[in-house]
Amino acid sequence: MAEHPGFGSRTFGVTRRLVLGLGALVGAVAALFGGRSALAQAAKAAGADAEPLSDMLGRLFQKHYQRMSSDEVKEAVARIERRAKRQYGEDITVGTEPALDGVVFGYALNISKCKGVRKCVEACVAENNTGRDSSMQYIRVLELDHGDMNLNRADHYYEAETVPRPGKFYLPVQCMQCDNPPCVKACPVEATWQEPDGITVVDYDWCIGCRYCMAACPYWARHFNWNEPTVPAEALNTDTHFLGNRPRPRGVVEKCTFCIQRSRKGRQPACVEACPTGARIFGNLLDPNSDIRYVLENKTVFRLKEDLGTEPKFWYFAD
Ligand code: SF4
Repeated sequence: MAEHPGFGSRTFGVTRRLVLGLGALVGAVAALFGGRSALAQAAKAAGADAEPLSDMLGRLFQKHYQRMSSDEVKEAVARIERRAKRQYGEDITVGTEPALDGVVFGYALNISKCKGVRKCVEACVAENNTGRDSSMQYIRVLELDHGDMNLNRADHYYEAETVPRPGKFYLPVQCMQCDNPPCVKACPVEATWQEPDGITVVDYDWCIGCRYCMAACPYWARHFNWNEPTVPAEALNTDTHFLGNRPRPRGVVEKCTFCIQRSRKGRQPACVEACPTGARIFGNLLDPNSDIRYVLENKTVFRLKEDLGTEPKFWYFAD
């Protein structure tokens, strides 16, 4: 298991914070001299109507998640919850549950059971509050010809009235939660890292949106949000995690976190629950009695692009 990254190369992130912070400071000074309308304009310029100045500044000068004290985390959580209330009119909870001792999550997928219906994709979008206006989906279900495992020939965007189609099989791909994640190494500001339970997460407030991690990921598992995720208030999942499905700013890279807001509370990821064929198996790799261990010990499993040495904690098998 990789250790948490150090902070030797924070310069870029700190510089970004300074630039953003100076911008906010200029807005605040302008507001002081310009009265209420200037204050409103300053808030609007920061992308949140009527956001209190203290919240705006607190957000902009926020530290990296791993560097915050517990009080600073509480303040950041409160800011996110207040912002969501203003934006959606809904009360959300932003959890900060840490990784559990003795737990490393793993995933397996039975490709002989997958029929390509994409119920997992729908459930993932609903669970993770991904933008409805964008076409962002953390899970891609690839359609391939029988006998062909060349992913370069896979159809990522197949449209079919009915599935499975004759002569085809389906290979869902999402974040593989690699044990040797190239995306983490690529990030110049250490906005993304691997947690002790094996889940690679992103501090969405620290990410500068450079997309180096996207280029480094061989599984198409990271997704840049060109727009702030838009979710109808009535569809908002209000049960969130700071490192998971909480509201994100635009211009950052999002990803699957094995539904961290669920899995750290002993629940299954939304995609596992939604799969109508039971093709998806998720659990604790360190528990010898878990279903995932049963699969690994009793099935012939394989991983995608094993030759790259990324060591995915996501296995495929067929009955
Ligand atoms: S886009 Fe990816 S590589 Fe760039 S800062 Fe964000 S997490 Fe790091």
